[in-house]
Amino acid sequence: MNKLWKVLSSTALAASLLAVPNVGFAETGPSPQQGDNLSIEGFINYDQLTKKLEQIQKSSQGKVKVETAGKTNLGRDIYKVTVGHGDKVVLIESEIHGNEKTGTVALLNILQNLGSSNSQEAKKILDELTIVVIPMMNADGSELDRRANDMDWAEVVAKFPQLANVQPAWNYYNYPGSYNYNLNPGFDVNRDFHPDLNYVPKPEDFPGASNKYGWYITPEAQTVRNVYKDLKEQFGKVDVFVDLHHQGFPYVEGTDDRVTMSISGKFVKHPNSSGGEKYAAYAENYNYDFSRQLNLAVYNALQEKGDSVFTNISLYDQNIDLPGTALGAFALNGSGTVLFEVSGQTQSFGQKKRGQLVKTVETGLMSIINGVTDGSVYQLNPEEYENIPLSVRTPGGL
Ligand SMILES: [Zn+2]
Repeated sequence: MNKLWKVLSSTALAASLLAVPNVGFAETGPSPQQGDNLSIEGFINYDQLTKKLEQIQKSSQGKVKVETAGKTNLGRDIYKVTVGHGDKVVLIESEIHGNEKTGTVALLNILQNLGSSNSQEAKKILDELTIVVIPMMNADGSELDRRANDMDWAEVVAKFPQLANVQPAWNYYNYPGSYNYNLNPGFDVNRDFHPDLNYVPKPEDFPGASNKYGWYITPEAQTVRNVYKDLKEQFGKVDVFVDLHHQGFPYVEGTDDRVTMSISGKFVKHPNSSGGEKYAAYAENYNYDFSRQLNLAVYNALQEKGDSVFTNISLYDQNIDLPGTALGAFALNGSGTVLFEVSGQTQSFGQKKRGQLVKTVETGLMSIINGVTDGSVYQLNPEEYENIPLSVRTPGGL
């Protein structure tokens, strides 16, 4: 393993999706090499999601339950879809960033399959697991095909008057640029989480920073927090949390292959490590080994596809410390956590690679679902996670 590459990857990827966005452009990343297709047709919009969920619920004959868990800032429903009645809880979310749409399509495919299949395998999954899906959680951002939600600081202050005299949150986008955030501001919802599920915004915690907690000031983050909290109360814990994203176009370390998807189980400094002392209160819950096992299950399932783009899987930046992300906050609550980052923004590849990427996400998710169902994921050696290749921006370094 080349040490220089490691260093390069952590700095280069710092501008990437889950990591701290640069001020100004958070999301664009390098362009694909050819055929930029700006169309987002082929992905589904909010109305199509609503119809599709109704249809899946109906045809499942009671197996799939669709509820409204909360509302976006503009009043769209945030759906909570449940399938299965087992003791182990798997929570999966898509489109916390509204221009990262692959996950929503993959989730609908999985819900459709689990809801309609009469196979023994599907039956076993539904007996062992309670799978809860929050598709398109940031529907307002999704409709605008952009990262942030649709909410301005004055709306936050109206809900939390104690914030009247503080500087707006650091993850507030209100600058000019291709998404017109100056005209229509919003928040990176994936910095608005806090491991204390009962946290109430305090003036002294603003404007905050990437290595500090979020506040649950956005209704979208509040909704997911409420779903998580309810599940925790009902089941004792949320065993697994998976968050579905998109990234730029890195390479798999040591190869000339473009990454199809990066994965990760590490979003905050380990509470027992140097730099992780601030998470001491959560040290007992934190289950890094289980996160690593879940990631390995994903990696192994995709490697089994052999000699294809599906094997181009890398680890996402392992040096991030982002406790305001949903993954970071829920990892500190004890969930096994997995990040999926398929390559390319929806703006930059349109439908082009859609099928391939959806299949990659589906395969990865089913490996988690199957691995928890049959218990095989608990048998994996977590240390093998460290052998998954890293991501690099350019093969062989700069
Ligand atoms: Zn993202």
